[in-house]
Amino acid sequence: SPKADRESEPTLLSVQGDDEPEPALLHRSLASRPHNVESASGSYLTLSSGRQKLDACGGAAVAIIGHGNTEVTEAAVAQMLKVSYVHTMQYGTDSSLELSNCILAPHPSSPNFDHGLVKAYFAGSGSEVNDAALKLEKQYFFEKGEPQRKVYVSRQQAYHGGTIGAISISGMPARKVPYDGIMMPHVEFVGAADAFHRKGKAETEGEFVERLVKEIEELFERAGPKNIISFIGETVSGAALGCMSAPKGYWPAVRELCNKHGILLHLDEVMCGMGRTGTYFAFEQEGIKPDIVTIGKGLGGGYAPIAGMLINDKIIDVIRKGTSVFNHGHTFQAHPVSCAIALNVQGIVKRDKLVERCAKKGEKLRQLLEAAFAGAEYVADIRGGGLFQTVEFMQDPYTKKPFPKHVGFGAKVQLTTFDLGVAVYPGAGTVDGEEGDHVLIAPPYTISDEE
Ligand code: PLP
Repeated sequence: SPKADRESEPTLLSVQGDDEPEPALLHRSLASRPHNVESASGSYLTLSSGRQKLDACGGAAVAIIGHGNTEVTEAAVAQMLKVSYVHTMQYGTDSSLELSNCILAPHPSSPNFDHGLVKAYFAGSGSEVNDAALKLEKQYFFEKGEPQRKVYVSRQQAYHGGTIGAISISGMPARKVPYDGIMMPHVEFVGAADAFHRKGKAETEGEFVERLVKEIEELFERAGPKNIISFIGETVSGAALGCMSAPKGYWPAVRELCNKHGILLHLDEVMCGMGRTGTYFAFEQEGIKPDIVTIGKGLGGGYAPIAGMLINDKIIDVIRKGTSVFNHGHTFQAHPVSCAIALNVQGIVKRDKLVERCAKKGEKLRQLLEAAFAGAEYVADIRGGGLFQTVEFMQDPYTKKPFPKHVGFGAKVQLTTFDLGVAVYPGAGTVDGEEGDHVLIAPPYTISDEE
């Protein structure tokens, strides 16, 4: 029966059987169902069938301290008993105040790094905080007396979330098709900072960076630099491009260009932040200071839906001198329980030196991946930093010829890997903005060498 198939066949999703009642829950697909996870502990998921899967991607780079940590659950219960909920319009709570201090204080993994960010805002998801950032950036210019600024500049193959604002600034056309006509206007795209797919064979890395920067400069000129609000990018591109760092010198050049025209730099570290690439913020490795950073996923480690926007004093000063009010809010903004959970997760990260551990385990993971797959047929690239690694597959790695789309090689790798007991995250778009053949490996920072 389909139900038995679901529990014994190597599938990630099984076809909804005619003889099975369709669940009331709207999953992504109406035609198939995901496996049910009965319980999760440490680095492992246990399915309803009893089979165990190593969670080698922490969901989508979320579960940074693994599953079932009772320190966190105790902190959650304690906060619920203390204050379960109040509205931020009128009230504050200790947990949200402490979390903002915790996130903005120098991190023990890089105590001398000065990020220049002075305020933190918390909401429920990466999409929400990216939307909040779009509004704050616009309000900054409104209050500064530059209301003509209306254009956001983002990058092809970026993913910034699923709400109308966040998907509008995402560069994945296939995800926008059904929503044609309701995307935000005034969003312009430049090419991805993706040396693997875009750098010419004869081009040096420096020449490639020059080309990328020229492309941005030309777009700024076309749109009118005084019309642009912000430049938005994932410091290390996550789901769509697969752990793709920008070539050396790219981010400093973008920062300089933004400074030249008074354009804000908004870095999206929802996936690559919170230690994932081996430093607390990925931009620590780039030698730049952004104006706004968005974080999520690892912030609460999956124990609560929580994400954040971190803001520098340049923006705060203008709002303070202007209306003094950020004209935006959510019912569950800075939710006391979510904040207490994130505070506890981040406390564990600091206490157990998990960012440092992530950097070390990342090197180990990389060595293992290279030993296992470098030079293997169809393995085109192994890349990433920290516990944020991607293996990309191509039909001909030498000429970088991708598999035809119908082959779905990356999905097959994911399926086979799952059957062998390891859950990895599928790529979402490397080849011409379409589904790409890569998998993402982003296990908890607590993962052991054996795991
Ligand atoms: N930004 C990046 C870089 C992401 O990877 C994601 C989610 O995958 C988001 C934003 C959206 O976050 P959420 O799914 O929590 O809304």
